[in-house]
Amino acid sequence: MKFKLSFILFFSSFCAFAQTQKTYLLKADRVFDGEQIHQNWVVIIKNDKILYAGEDTKMPKVQIDSTLNLKGQTLLPGLIEGHSHLFLHPYNETEWNDQVLKESRAERLVRAVNHAKTTLMAGFTTTRDLGTEGAGFDDIGLKQSIEKGLTPGPRMICAGRAIVATGSYGPKSDNAELILPKGAEESDGEHLVSTVRSQIGHGIDVVKIYADYRWGLNKTAKPTFTVEEIKKVVEIAHRAGRPVAAHAATKEGMMSAIEGGVNTIEHGDAGDDEVFALMKEKGIALCPTIAAGDAIEQYNGWKEGSSPEPKKILEKHKSFAAALKAGVTICFGGDVGVFTHGDNAREMVMMVDYGMKPIDVLKSATSVNAKVFHQDEIGQLKAGLKADIISVSGDPTQDIKLMKKVNFVMKNGVIYKQEL
Ligand SMILES: [Zn+2]
Repeated sequence: MKFKLSFILFFSSFCAFAQTQKTYLLKADRVFDGEQIHQNWVVIIKNDKILYAGEDTKMPKVQIDSTLNLKGQTLLPGLIEGHSHLFLHPYNETEWNDQVLKESRAERLVRAVNHAKTTLMAGFTTTRDLGTEGAGFDDIGLKQSIEKGLTPGPRMICAGRAIVATGSYGPKSDNAELILPKGAEESDGEHLVSTVRSQIGHGIDVVKIYADYRWGLNKTAKPTFTVEEIKKVVEIAHRAGRPVAAHAATKEGMMSAIEGGVNTIEHGDAGDDEVFALMKEKGIALCPTIAAGDAIEQYNGWKEGSSPEPKKILEKHKSFAAALKAGVTICFGGDVGVFTHGDNAREMVMMVDYGMKPIDVLKSATSVNAKVFHQDEIGQLKAGLKADIISVSGDPTQDIKLMKKVNFVMKNGVIYKQEL
């Protein structure tokens, strides 16, 4: 028995070794390097890194173990999902409250493992996972399991439990005396200092706060933390090198987050010219999550594309156009989990529908997200960076819908998908 176990361990470590100690030459019709599209380019991978990305006539003379001809295809950097919840599944399957309160932690983790795999196979080699919504710090364990090779999945940038103002977040009971477990960690005032530090101690990579939430009269969205509270969170997070992502849908919530000095604003539905001018000035990026808002309206009975468009959809069109006009940095992030994992590219298609150029959407999902999330080893096809590469058929700068079907996925120099 003992012999058998060590044989398996030896065999699996040998496989990992064999997969990464290899030099690949990738040829395709086009290469999008994270900034622009090129023809007559090749990419050479050595072990887990990119050795060369550039003109085929100038490629270095190295021994190639394997050449992949991706005819008719475009190579791109592995995509970076900017706003996911691997521990959630679509609300039309199970309402958010019931996922948080009634599903076991084991079930939620099993689902997350499956979601991680689907995400990777859809070409998303990295994801910024913005809160487990009641599943504690299980995202940190999932990230470590992926890194150890126990299960396939994207690189994870984790927000852990996320932080909400006391009383603002759900789930809530109709029985006013009953305090239910929450989808995020409650904290306020001076306590925020230890909450942020404690979450960092648990292994989070990014601090997620909710600058507003639907806790106003008649369930309207209203600001939660004061500007001073947000400033405190940002100060403590930044000292430890952690960026801060703020959920904010109202103008007031966005203004507090901006004044508080956060790095990204999630959703930003009610943003206007004044808000976006400030974001542009302060270098705060917007993660618009168009697909999640659209999905929720559909769950509420709206048939996609039918008129009249719901108020929220009209508002989103207006605010996204204003953000583009102001030149705000746009992250790619759909809030996937509200809709189906693996369908992440739905946000790309919607960003184009809402007025962004396809090439700018591709930049958002690669080089821009890498920069905004402080990840300098990914997001471009450039010598020295991690070998995270995907391919799609055709030219996605001409038709963004092509991003919905990814043929080839390599992460860290290991091929996970190859449908040639
Ligand atoms: Zn979210």
